[in-house]
Amino acid sequence: MSEFGFNTLSVHAGAQPDPATGARATPIYQTTAYVFEDADHAAALFNLQVFGNIYSRIMNPTNAVLEERVAALEGGRAALAVSSGHAAQLIAFHPLMNPGDEFVAARHLYGGSITQFKHSFAKFDWHVKWADTQNPDSFKAQITEKTKAVYIESIANPGGVISDIEAIAAIAHSAGVPLIVDNTMASPYLIRPFEWGADIVVHSATKFLGGHGNSMAGVVVDGGRFDWGNGKFPTLSEPCPSYHGMKIWETFGDMAYAIACRVLSLRDLGPALSPTNAFLILTGCETLPLRMQRHCDNALAVAKWLKEHPKVAWVNYAGLEGDASYGLHRTYCPKGAGSIFTFGVKGGYEAGKAMVNNVKLFSHLANIGDTRSLIIHPASTTHRQLEPEQRAAAGAGDDVVRLSIGIENVEDIVADLDQALNA
Ligand SMILES: *Cc1c(COP(=O)(O)O)cnc(C)c1O
Repeated sequence: MSEFGFNTLSVHAGAQPDPATGARATPIYQTTAYVFEDADHAAALFNLQVFGNIYSRIMNPTNAVLEERVAALEGGRAALAVSSGHAAQLIAFHPLMNPGDEFVAARHLYGGSITQFKHSFAKFDWHVKWADTQNPDSFKAQITEKTKAVYIESIANPGGVISDIEAIAAIAHSAGVPLIVDNTMASPYLIRPFEWGADIVVHSATKFLGGHGNSMAGVVVDGGRFDWGNGKFPTLSEPCPSYHGMKIWETFGDMAYAIACRVLSLRDLGPALSPTNAFLILTGCETLPLRMQRHCDNALAVAKWLKEHPKVAWVNYAGLEGDASYGLHRTYCPKGAGSIFTFGVKGGYEAGKAMVNNVKLFSHLANIGDTRSLIIHPASTTHRQLEPEQRAAAGAGDDVVRLSIGIENVEDIVADLDQALNA
């Protein structure tokens, strides 16, 4: 389908009228397992000699449509849908890492990702080293013999900092490791990381892909271009003990990584996506381009308005001329700089908390990428578990308020912020 434009792919990629019933919308295949044709067919499926459905922990026809849709939107080779964005991150690293291995990650990340990498991954003996998002050379300085990946967000949560994907990809490749990009905040409508050299894309589909704040999901997308045969990735290149010594890279070529994520990592770690949630995310994907453009246009108008407000100390939005990320915004995502950004209220921690207590149209909650406008004070919530210096480094200092601008009328969004700031 890749000859079609982005809007068309958003509606159609991966889907066809249901062969059994003619249903035009993708059915929710709410089933755990699938009947085998006969014993030989069953054996061939289990040996990965033929593709087909076995058990919904590993594959499901509704989820498969979502996987194909997101792979098409990202311009990737293949994708795997899982139960949450965090599950996607775990699954994405699992085929790459062995005990004692390291990866380098940008400091500007979703707060939950910082905690996952630093604490939970350390229990697997996987170790994160931090680099400065805005200084690509700082990634190089953290790479060692044990490094197996570099990890960044395309547009970084919460501050909306834009990463120089092309420069960081070049550094990862010169060390023989893949670049993983969390593309949640941009969505493929704004940035397609594979076009800039990324090797793996992960999503919290909970956010813009689903777009309506009603279901959790995650996606791992394989760009299909990385050379897994350089000796650093034995799970992909060496005989696989749980498949009678099959070599995954040799057998599956440019889909090897996506297959490994599915038939090893998802099979054994288990965060399978409910087909009902896959259906809801898929429905969201159909309007992704329309929603994303409105999100971005509203966010720019709100950021410009806040910048002039007497009670506002500063606004960080890559779409504003003069912002540190403005140049990268023009290069990487000229259609818009996303809908999530931060600003500082004069009066620090208490003023930030008061602001979130006074909004009416905005919802005070821990999510982004909903049709509704959302607000949060990261220092007292999403980034609360971090040390104060880590919080500041992640763009979540005491006076910071984060907005996720929805698709309502922009004058209503502005009026609500105005009354909350003046209350
Ligand atoms: C929300 C989010 C995640 C985690 O995704 P869940 O679906 O909540 O598990 C990861 N990265 C970013 C950028 C996010 O916004």
